[in-house]
Amino acid sequence: MIDRLLDGNSQYLQNKNALGDISLNKRKETAKNGQHPFAVIVTCSDSRVIPEAIFNCGIGDLFVIRVAGNVINEDELGSIQYAVEHLKCQLVVVLGHTQCGAIASALEGHGGGYVDYLLSPIKKAIGNEKDPQKASRLNALWGANLIKEKLKLDTKQVAAMLYHIDNGKVELLK
Ligand SMILES: [Zn+2]
Repeated sequence: MIDRLLDGNSQYLQNKNALGDISLNKRKETAKNGQHPFAVIVTCSDSRVIPEAIFNCGIGDLFVIRVAGNVINEDELGSIQYAVEHLKCQLVVVLGHTQCGAIASALEGHGGGYVDYLLSPIKKAIGNEKDPQKASRLNALWGANLIKEKLKLDTKQVAAMLYHIDNGKVELLK
């Protein structure tokens, strides 16, 4: 499943437009037979990060959860658990990205109001890291580990990745 995503990203790098299957036939087929997405993607709300396009996917392929900073709180865990247990998604990916505003806010100590609900897990994840890109990596890895721990999934079922917004590449994090 990781290979399928990374192969899709290789195709995306050549694309000028999104090429995932969004045809009328696919709409009808998934309306009739239900959804069987092969992966859960937890990613940021950033408008430059478009999961289906990035992985060259279409209707019915990905179960996507978007929240600023791709943080993992109770709501996200609930959505992931639903996708794994009921939709039988075989892989969960936390997809962070470069130049993330939520990460920058955590680093610069901005926030206040409801934004603090996002910044608190990010601060835990990044610790004393000051470099924004390294912090994005730590945040995605931390989220992936939390998912493994809370939902009792094994290492093969959860991955962390980083999307480079300037060139479109997805990097598998270890
Ligand atoms: Zn972001």
